[in-house]
Amino acid sequence: MNTKEVENRIPILTYHSIDNSGSVISTSPEKFHRQMQYLNDSSCNVISLEKVVSCIRENRSFPPRSVAITFDDGFKNNYDIAYPVLKEYGFNAIIFLVTGYCGRNNRWPGQLPEIPELDLLQWDEIKEMANNGIDFGAHTVNHPNLPELTLEQAEDEIVDSKKEIEAHLKKNIVCFAYPYGGKTNKFSKILSNEFQCTVTTELKVANLDSDIYSLPRIDMYYFSRNNLFARIGTSRFFNYIKYRKFLRSLRNFHLKLA
Ligand SMILES: [Zn+2]
Repeated sequence: MNTKEVENRIPILTYHSIDNSGSVISTSPEKFHRQMQYLNDSSCNVISLEKVVSCIRENRSFPPRSVAITFDDGFKNNYDIAYPVLKEYGFNAIIFLVTGYCGRNNRWPGQLPEIPELDLLQWDEIKEMANNGIDFGAHTVNHPNLPELTLEQAEDEIVDSKKEIEAHLKKNIVCFAYPYGGKTNKFSKILSNEFQCTVTTELKVANLDSDIYSLPRIDMYYFSRNNLFARIGTSRFFNYIKYRKFLRSLRNFHLKLA
């Protein structure tokens, strides 16, 4: 693999909760700290999602060994545990908020029973982080599966979540994450009017040809039980992502048959 090819790709990492429960949405505090330390020690460039988007738009290579960090749902432990670590290394990250549940917990309708009940961020914590290098994006008001909604319902979920964050933070909110990765073209016009980019749960490394309204990400669940994170940016890392993507497509195929 040549260097040019590597610079044209960027892993956009997805974290959810930083806790010790071992659930599918959890990364342990110790593991999170080690992963950030690794990014720092191996001279990775943590760049913002907005920078990812501007590189793609302008067809400009990403800085060498670039990585972007995202968090979905806005858990309180992002403030208590992840934020001090990000600050320690001067890393940017973007947190996607479910605005109707800020200051509450993650028990929105449709939440899976196996997901632990966890507190979500309060607005004063969000403001403090926003003033110290952390970005925020919209993840709807009530965390619905968008493909199931009417145009009017989807518009409320999407636009109201953006407006509420903007009202609290007094800045433009330009990124959106699909709840459950439920991407649909039904609402693409609303999303492209409101945002500069949208991210999905498609398991893939983003590159300069990626659609900025369908950016793939790498869920850190796939790194919770191995040490392959330390191979980030190498062929082994990229091959592992391809392998997991293959397993996931196989599983989805069988689920469809079931
Ligand atoms: Zn979510």
